[in-house]
Amino acid sequence: MSTSPLRLMAVHAHPDDESSKGAATTARYAAQGVEVLVVTCTGGERGSILNPHYGEVVAEPEQMNAIRQVEMRHAAQALGVSHRWLGFIDSGLPEGDPLPPLPPGCFALEPLDVPTRALVEVMREFRPHVVTTYDPSGGYPHPDHIRCHEVSWAAFHAAGDADAFVGTGEPWQPLKLYYNHDFSMNRVSTLHRAMIDAGLESPYGGWVESREAREIPERQATTRVECADFFDHRDAALRAHATQIDPQGFFFAVPREVERQVWPVEEYELAVSHVPTSVPEDDLFAGIRND
Ligand SMILES: [Zn+2]
Repeated sequence: MSTSPLRLMAVHAHPDDESSKGAATTARYAAQGVEVLVVTCTGGERGSILNPHYGEVVAEPEQMNAIRQVEMRHAAQALGVSHRWLGFIDSGLPEGDPLPPLPPGCFALEPLDVPTRALVEVMREFRPHVVTTYDPSGGYPHPDHIRCHEVSWAAFHAAGDADAFVGTGEPWQPLKLYYNHDFSMNRVSTLHRAMIDAGLESPYGGWVESREAREIPERQATTRVECADFFDHRDAALRAHATQIDPQGFFFAVPREVERQVWPVEEYELAVSHVPTSVPEDDLFAGIRND
């Protein structure tokens, strides 16, 4: 199998997820000459305006979809990556007790084969060596994030099977599948402690307490990618999502000097490997590079 150029596919649920999870990693690899493709499963059309400093009122999903397409284009430019929409409709985050039903036709309600076929087709065309996605919990319990995991897992295992999804291109088996782990308790509590040690107000106090109280089992990160030199790219990509990200808010609350000092990496969990490698790793392409 040719491994030149190396290719990385990052599968995400909504526009902005690529900027909050694994963003600096994608920017780093793109700068090194790796071909990087971000695939976004949904248009994010059911997202609310989460930035209180965003000036306009946007009520209609169609309008939101159009705005988020532009935001996504600018974010991809900031990261230096290519981008593809998978074309499904945001399920929205159901809230209330009991939870309301999901809206008809949304991504999370599509029969699994439908989005899997769409992703297999993109995999067979782009031919990634490495694929990243979320762990089975979704990372957080948004139905689109859980679905994103299910679709990525199914497509990773089907793309190389000539009998699966016939008519979507030549089979291609990606070599490694990873889960993003940017919001691990380890990272959040490390940043939290560093803020307190520096005499600064931590944005993570409530988060650390509620996570500890719920005793969510931690998944094991296997792979730490050094990417502090690309935090600026990540930040520019985050700011591109102006409807979602408050430039004075949560994502920018930790001074970058502090972050570079205590957590200059992004973490991943190696879920599947078809090449020999040993963990811990510091490179998503460990075991794949020719050199
Ligand atoms: Zn999302």
